[in-house]
Amino acid sequence: MEGTMRTPIIAGNWKLNKTISEAVALTTALKALVADDTGVEIIVAPPFTALAAVSDTIADSNICLAAQDVYSEDSGAFTGEVSAPMLKDAGCDYAIIGHSERRQYFGETNDSVNQKTKAALAHDLKPIICVGEQLEEREANQTEAVIESHVTGGIAGLSAADLLSCVIAYEPVWAIGTGETATPVQAQAVHNFIRGLLTKAHSAEIASQICIQYGGSVKPENAAELIAQPDVDGALVGGASLEAESFAQIVRNVQ
Ligand code: PEP
Repeated sequence: MEGTMRTPIIAGNWKLNKTISEAVALTTALKALVADDTGVEIIVAPPFTALAAVSDTIADSNICLAAQDVYSEDSGAFTGEVSAPMLKDAGCDYAIIGHSERRQYFGETNDSVNQKTKAALAHDLKPIICVGEQLEEREANQTEAVIESHVTGGIAGLSAADLLSCVIAYEPVWAIGTGETATPVQAQAVHNFIRGLLTKAHSAEIASQICIQYGGSVKPENAAELIAQPDVDGALVGGASLEAESFAQIVRNVQ
C-alpha cells in the first residue's frame, strides 16, 4: 500500500559468540554509539547465557533484546530448551525463529517454525521469522517456491493481529557469512514477492505494515543501498554486529 511508513529494524544476531562479560562490553559500547539514533529500531540477539546481563545493560536505552531461538512448549521435560515465558522473564522483546543455521544443522522445519512462532506470540514475544533459499535452489529457479513454503508454513494459522507482531527476515543462505550479498535488485524482487504472499494470506493493508528485513553479509558499505529498496525494511546482521562500531555504522547508514 502506497505511503505506509514502516520503521526500519536493524538486528544483530551474535550467533555462538560472546561470553557474558564480552556481551556486556559490546552492548555498553553500542549503547553510547547509537544513543542519538532515532527512527530506527535497534535489536541485539546475544546467546541465551548473556540475555539477562544484556537486558540490564540496555535498560533505559533505545536498544531492544532478542533471543536467537525459542522452544514451542512453555515448560516440561524438554532438556536444553528455553521457552517464551523464560525469554520474556530474561527481558526479551523478540525471538529469531527458523534461522537458516537452525534449519540446516538442527532440523528446524516450517512446522516447527510455525509452532515456535505461535508460542512466542502467546507470550508477547515478537517473532523474527527467517526465510531464504539455498544456492542450488536459486540456480534451479526454485527461489519463489522455497520462499512461499517458508513464509506460508511459518505464518500458518496466524490472525491478522498476530501477523502484525511478526517480522520476516529474508536471508538467502548463499549470502549468509559468505561476504556475497544479494544485489539490491535481487533483494527487492524477493521482498516484493514476500509482501505479495502476506497480502494473499491476509490483506494488502496488513502486508503493508509488516517489516521485511534483509540478511546476508550486510555491512556498513552496502546497508544503505539495500534498505533504500521500497520493500526492504531493515537488516538482520551477523558478522558485522559483533563489533559495536560496524553495527552502529549500519544503523547510521540506514537513517
Ligand atoms: C545472519 O546470521 O543472519 C547473517 C545474515 O549473517 P552475516 O551478516 O554474517 O551474513
